[in-house]
Amino acid sequence: MPVYTLPELPYDYSALEPNISARIMELHHSKHHAAYVAGANAALEQMEEARASNSFGTINKLEKDLAFHLGGHINHSIFWTNLSPDSSGRPGAELASAIDEFFGSFDAFKAHFSAASLGIQGSGWGILSWDPVGARLIVQQLFDQQANTAQGTVPLLQLDMWEHAFYLDYQNVKADYVAAFWKIVNWDNVATRFAAARDNSASLLLLS
Ligand code: MN
Repeated sequence: MPVYTLPELPYDYSALEPNISARIMELHHSKHHAAYVAGANAALEQMEEARASNSFGTINKLEKDLAFHLGGHINHSIFWTNLSPDSSGRPGAELASAIDEFFGSFDAFKAHFSAASLGIQGSGWGILSWDPVGARLIVQQLFDQQANTAQGTVPLLQLDMWEHAFYLDYQNVKADYVAAFWKIVNWDNVATRFAAARDNSASLLLLS
């Protein structure tokens, strides 16, 4: 039995139109995300074979494969739930207050997150994360599926900036894709993730 499985989307492939087309959603979920799931399972299997044969000549490759594919699986699993055809447009009171505290205002946060996402050189993600050490919200740039973020931070809101996420709809005009993203954020989902991360900061770090 595979360890990782492709989750169902909580909405139809066409639900996010016109902001993200059904064609992109279908390819992105059924091909790209599915490939990360298969890759993560394959890496685990090959690690098991390496242990069984006590032969670790490929371990560096396998560790990189696991980080990349499991990263891709986790990133997309969060991303799908961060989106909704029924976005409220703004966070609710509690999350909005935290965003004001750590970024100054919602508009300042949006500008920061957008700039970080648009500034990624190559493939990656813009992420709003909870940092349990500083007990604060931060914006991070994730490179590829697995690099340039701090261990232990908890992703709350992720934006896929890989070309496969937008190119069919927006070609090279990434700013229009990011602008469309803000119209379909599921702020209830982000708020739920925020509350869970904040309330479990100590246990996340085994500090208690
Ligand atoms: Mn993607």
